[in-house]
Amino acid sequence: MTFKELQIIEPIQKALSAEGYTHPTPIQAQSIPILLRNKDLLGCAQTGTGKTAAFAIPILQHIFNKIEYSSGKRKIKALIVTPTRELAIQIADSFTAYGKFTGIKNTVIFGGVKQSAQTRELNRGVDILVATPGRLLDLTQQGFISFKDIEYFVLDEADQMLDMGFIHDIKKIIAKLPHKRQSLFFSATMPPNIIELSRKILGQYERVTVRPEQATADKVEQAIYFVSKRAKTKLLIHLLQTENIHSTLVFSRTKHGANKIVKLLDKADIKAEAIHGNKSQAARQKALANFKSGVTNVLIATDIAARGIDIDELSHVINYDLPNIPEIYVHRIGRTGRAGASGIALSFCMQEERAYLRDIQKLINQKIPVITEHPFLNFDDDVETPSNKPTQQKKPRNKHQRSSKSGNSNWRNKNKNRRRPDSRNRN
Ligand code: AMP
Repeated sequence: MTFKELQIIEPIQKALSAEGYTHPTPIQAQSIPILLRNKDLLGCAQTGTGKTAAFAIPILQHIFNKIEYSSGKRKIKALIVTPTRELAIQIADSFTAYGKFTGIKNTVIFGGVKQSAQTRELNRGVDILVATPGRLLDLTQQGFISFKDIEYFVLDEADQMLDMGFIHDIKKIIAKLPHKRQSLFFSATMPPNIIELSRKILGQYERVTVRPEQATADKVEQAIYFVSKRAKTKLLIHLLQTENIHSTLVFSRTKHGANKIVKLLDKADIKAEAIHGNKSQAARQKALANFKSGVTNVLIATDIAARGIDIDELSHVINYDLPNIPEIYVHRIGRTGRAGASGIALSFCMQEERAYLRDIQKLINQKIPVITEHPFLNFDDDVETPSNKPTQQKKPRNKHQRSSKSGNSNWRNKNKNRRRPDSRNRN
């Protein structure tokens, strides 16, 4: 399957080649034909599967085929709503990249920064708007945004939206949308409240599923370290010093915990930065830019801040704390092994987190191999030997020793060394 066979127009095909995309990812191959037929879509897929291009390409193509350049100020024809600022910026970056030979304009709006630069762009006129819910409603109430001409609506990361308490904002947004539109609804998980929300948004839809369990099982090597709470940082330092870790995202449950890890790593001469909700937008962007450019190799993040961050070549994800919601584990380890590449996810598990581990293994339907030998195994008496004997005891091989297990990896290879510039999109 090629993009040409999917009947993607020439200017977009050219941009995709420039991005190094040779073949569509499974979600793209399945979704693009449905969307080009103007159908609504319910997509069950996490970030890392190529879902942004799956919706961005058909939207660009529809707009390109209809656009009338002589008709004065551009009107917003497509609205993409996504939960976090980082994700919003990345989606807008993708529209800019895939649409660079189409003349279609996008802009991105999100909270936590002054609105003047954003309203200036809106006043100039854009075809596509990418937004987080709060700022979208705020600028709409102030009269900077009209929903009147919207023909394409995407609700991205719906489960995360609900987790973050955006349900009322989402309902207000839906109420303002024109009745006649094409709607796309993406969520990594599909619990009943998400299905219910999707019914409010979608008309007659088709469903595409790229199951997170598959992503987990197929592409990411996982391992568990049983370790006491006190020894977690020591183990982290040990791994960062001895394993072949090029770039790792370390997940901390709390913002305070993330800051503490940075300080302790600093004492061990390991440069790391933290991103979480208490940091200013500028500080988060800077930490991300440093990480992307290789100035730092370790980024400590909370779940919400890390959600949707698009970093190519992330060799490891380390779960410093195990999440109490098993789906979050799937989201986290999806940060490595992105879009068909393979990666390694290491998780620290203290006594109190054993129940979380059980839930995770149940969800992914796998027993995660346990590393039975490491220097901090008996560091503290809150560690007990796992009662159930591990299925595998060897360490995951490092990245250079591993071979690709994914049959889909070919579409990814050309794109391997690309690092996305951290610039904001205002074309
Ligand atoms: P997403 O799931 O949209 O966050 O995409 C994950 C990553 O896959 C991003 O870095 C994209 O640039 C990359 N990507 C998306 N589609 C393709 C493709 N067809 N070939 C190679 N890389 C892709």
